[in-house]
Amino acid sequence: MAEVSNKQVIFKDYVSGFPTDADMYMTTSTMSLKVPEGSQAVLVKNLYLSCDPYMRARMTYTHTSYIGSFKPGSVLNGFGVAKVLDSGHPNFSKGDLIWGFTGWEEYTLMTSTETLFKIPTTDVPLSYYIGILGMPGMTAYAGFYEICTPKKGEYVYVSSASGAVGQLVGQFAKLLGCYVVGSAGTKEKVDLLKDKFGFDDAFNYKEEPDLASCLKRYFPEGIDIYFDNVGGEMLDAVLPRMRSHGRIAVCGMISQYNMEKPEGLCNLISIIIKQVKIQGFLVRSYYHLYPKYMEMVLPHIKEGKIVYVEDTVEGLENAPQALIGLFSGANVGKQVVVVSRE
Ligand code: NDP
Repeated sequence: MAEVSNKQVIFKDYVSGFPTDADMYMTTSTMSLKVPEGSQAVLVKNLYLSCDPYMRARMTYTHTSYIGSFKPGSVLNGFGVAKVLDSGHPNFSKGDLIWGFTGWEEYTLMTSTETLFKIPTTDVPLSYYIGILGMPGMTAYAGFYEICTPKKGEYVYVSSASGAVGQLVGQFAKLLGCYVVGSAGTKEKVDLLKDKFGFDDAFNYKEEPDLASCLKRYFPEGIDIYFDNVGGEMLDAVLPRMRSHGRIAVCGMISQYNMEKPEGLCNLISIIIKQVKIQGFLVRSYYHLYPKYMEMVLPHIKEGKIVYVEDTVEGLENAPQALIGLFSGANVGKQVVVVSRE
């Protein structure tokens, strides 16, 4: 049976502080391009890999989420788009394009197919299935519509607003007729928010020494909805600015992921005074809404009413740097790694 070489990204060991290049390394193994006789496995060629902030938590020994920590010495894994080369599973055939959980390598033999989905339409870029049409898209959709229960005319604030999730939350809010302000960490990103995604206003939080007065400037009437991607001092500064009966969707806390001891908040009393509803959520609880989301978002993409910006790096060997870059804001839009274009 013919064997091919398979480049892989290996997770070296548990990380404390910011992840670095030294925490991952490349290796090359060999593998057969046939699934073992009698198995229901699916063998895929990986095309696009997704870099996502939650992967940082998986680099920690104590991580207890449903996915679990990466195993030192093993291939990293995460969301990807891939092409089926061989299949022993009745639901998948050679030539199918799929998205779901895959390895950070050129070829992956999947023995579990629970998290694999066939790609229904290819008249959008395939990489969208790890972005707007994949996990980040569902996160924005569920977080905004289900958790924030938005209404036309409300004041909406989105942090990390130019990223994979944030850029969509802002556009959903604009489509509904809300007033939307986003924050991001560079001028380029701030310009993108206003000029490309149609946010009403945007600011660079790194240039704001006093977040409380900054938020007062951008939201003189207060904030009805805060879509929180960062946590920490930004969340603390938002609390007193919330309007009565405001809602906060706690989507992520990227400012805290590399800290040994997360920051405490000082303004929690505002939750009572402003009667704010704060809800954390996990996208995995909302995948049943995926068909409804697709029905809503696909026409908007095709009509150009929603745009999606990706930051693409070429080559599996550049995947570790791309992942690390999320934590310094190096990515402009959804961070995608191209392993192969076919
Ligand atoms: P992004 O594409 O937004 O990438 C991460 C961005 O975070 C960076 O570009 C950077 O942008 C910003 N950032 C990095 N460090 C800090 C910091 N210390 N303080 C403030 N901002 C920082 O990622 P996603 O859109 O994929 O994810 C956004 C958030 O949503 C993350 O917190 C993630 O964990 C969470 N998430 C939650 C899910 C859920 O089920 N609850 C599912 C998916 C994502 P900048 O230049 O603006 O600083």
